[in-house]
Amino acid sequence: MERLAIVVPCYNEEEVLEMSSEALRGVLDDLIDKRKISVDSFIMFVNDGSKDKTWELIEAEHEKYPYQVYGVKLARNVGHQYALTAGLITAADLCDICVSIDADLQDDVSVIEYMVDKYHDGCDIVYGVRKERKTDTFFKRFTAQSFYKLMAHMGVNTIYNHADFRLMSCRALRQFSNYREYNLFLRGIVPLIGYKTDCVYYDRKERAAGVSKYPLKKMLALAFDGISSFSTRPIDLILTVGFVIVFLSFIALLYALVSYFTGNVEPGWTSLIISIWFLGGLQLLAIGLVGKYVGKTYIEVKHRPRYNIEKVLTDESSEI
Ligand code: UDP
Ligand code: MG
Repeated sequence: MERLAIVVPCYNEEEVLEMSSEALRGVLDDLIDKRKISVDSFIMFVNDGSKDKTWELIEAEHEKYPYQVYGVKLARNVGHQYALTAGLITAADLCDICVSIDADLQDDVSVIEYMVDKYHDGCDIVYGVRKERKTDTFFKRFTAQSFYKLMAHMGVNTIYNHADFRLMSCRALRQFSNYREYNLFLRGIVPLIGYKTDCVYYDRKERAAGVSKYPLKKMLALAFDGISSFSTRPIDLILTVGFVIVFLSFIALLYALVSYFTGNVEPGWTSLIISIWFLGGLQLLAIGLVGKYVGKTYIEVKHRPRYNIEKVLTDESSEI
């Protein structure tokens, strides 16, 4: 029977940690009883440099349930995607199948069973897909949905309304670990792996406790955090200015046309003013876009390690 690992990235999750540990242990026990997974299946909490008691709680859970709860402590906060990657790659050596889920219990833990069933039907990757976003605020729903649509328009193959709640087999994980890029976007990479895949559907719930670790401020800060990420920020600014000027050029166009038809302009002024605004903006936009790729190349060629594991908690019988 297959050994299942449930990987849970946690950043300042002291309020929900025990709750999610209990819920996930319940899922493990249930699946073990139904003989769908092996008895040595486990949960792996990845502490993403939390500032609160999250790691102490993980240690305590590991003390209480040494065979069911494992912990990985990252040396500092590296962000959700990297924390999850650290957990997946650490778990890959220990398990046959791996499910990743957020700590906040927003994703329905009971569908893990269906994911495992699909695995037994021969799927290597099973995506958890939200049916609706009733519990999200209008703003979150709008930004998130625009995001998925934009990705599709840009030719990035993502699963609509799928976050990082998914099952991956051991061989899918091994293949995933060969993607060594720094700019890590799991939802884009996983579909590139291939194999037989399927989806399970669920309703997304409210956070069990605590607040979102992705507040608007953090998202915006992330977007504008450039000065310290070396010289890619000016590129972003160029791109932004390009967008603004192209937008303004449409206003200039309207203004110039109105002036033209009302007749009080010098000959040639209309076409000149439209060209100046539009071409100026277009050039900035193009430079910014090329710059974005140059900036990404710059980050990629550094080949930095993506995380640094400080400590790993397992039971003695397993080896890393
Ligand atoms: N998370 C993390 N590192 C971070 C921010 C978030 O590991 O820097 C984890 C967090 O603990 C949670 C998951 O990522 O398990 C998703 O975060 P959250 O639920 O706050 O995001 P939302 O559901 O609001 O998009
Ligand atoms: Mg959440």
